[in-house]
Amino acid sequence: TPRVLSGIQPTGDSFHLGNYLGALRQWVALQDTHDAFYCVVDLHAITVEYDPEALRRRTRVSAAQLLAMGVDPERSTLFVQSHVREHSELAWILGCLTGFGEAGRMTQFKDKSAKQGTGGPSVGLFTYPILQAADILLYTPVPGAGGQGFQVPVGEDQRQHLELTRTLAQRFNHRFGETFALPEAYIPKATAKITDLQEPTAKMSKSSSSPQGIIDVLEEPGSMRKKIMRAVTDTGTEITYDEEKKPGITNLLRIYSALSGSTTGDLERQYAGAGYGSLKKDLAQLVLDTLTPIRERTEKALGDEEQLDRILARGAARAGEVAARTMEAVRDRVGFVGRG
Ligand code: ATP
Ligand code: MG
Repeated sequence: TPRVLSGIQPTGDSFHLGNYLGALRQWVALQDTHDAFYCVVDLHAITVEYDPEALRRRTRVSAAQLLAMGVDPERSTLFVQSHVREHSELAWILGCLTGFGEAGRMTQFKDKSAKQGTGGPSVGLFTYPILQAADILLYTPVPGAGGQGFQVPVGEDQRQHLELTRTLAQRFNHRFGETFALPEAYIPKATAKITDLQEPTAKMSKSSSSPQGIIDVLEEPGSMRKKIMRAVTDTGTEITYDEEKKPGITNLLRIYSALSGSTTGDLERQYAGAGYGSLKKDLAQLVLDTLTPIRERTEKALGDEEQLDRILARGAARAGEVAARTMEAVRDRVGFVGRG
């Protein structure tokens, strides 16, 4: 079976609707057809300012939400990035193959570094995409061992990082011999970029959206409903799908379509002549119906922390075996002396 890998940062107290529709829903679906590796990327979360106790809590809350959404630890390998030391080790080696200017072209760094406080952006934030490349390539089976169709389900914001990952894999293979298969970004167009409810041209984001702009998976129903009712909409009253002229309504239609299975065209017809208010009201109900069971199952999973940690330990052991095999080949090829 082809392999798939993806990660999510424990940077907030909850995942949001953009994470769910853009990535996590695909994680769950791909388990049926793929050998899946999913990780909570805590090493990535420390690239920006953070609190250690909050990180520890958020890492468990993240894992609990993934289980609640349907990631099945019997079928998939669910683990915490820092438990598998090879991620950091491969990142160093790939970092030595990355040009400084090449890393400097990554737009996520430009966006995020502008928002860092008094200390300014860290070197870790700069090298973030290299660590991400390592996350992925550790699990790409070498060509000839079923390496075709290795997919990485992510949102549109990660496309550039996936390109860099492919470039680094090719460079490594060229310089040291075929080692990594080339991963492919898996980005379903309709949900590739869910936008901020208050700023409908910017992506919904754990670390930069305002509380009013983001729908959290673990949010109270009342607050969720209010935010959707107050979502920024566009001038005019017509409900039409038009990213340029009506980014607010278009975002709501995309969310509605993804959750209901109706096409955006169907929705335009269904709400022809109706006001924004009635669309928002129905959408709020749909969002609540989707997220409420996830919130309840998350609470349940968090209720048994020992069980949760056991699941993560098992995942780390399984991921660690694959990662160790990859690193053995990598160390040899780059010219390190074996430890014997
Ligand atoms: P942060 O602001 O801390 O970077 P984030 O909201 O961007 O948090 P990540 O953990 O960086 O979340 O990303 C997890 C996954 O969710 C990635 O695959 C990313 O592409 C996807 N994703 C994030 N935001 C959106 C969005 N607004 N629409 C669609 N997909 C998204
Ligand atoms: Mg992000």
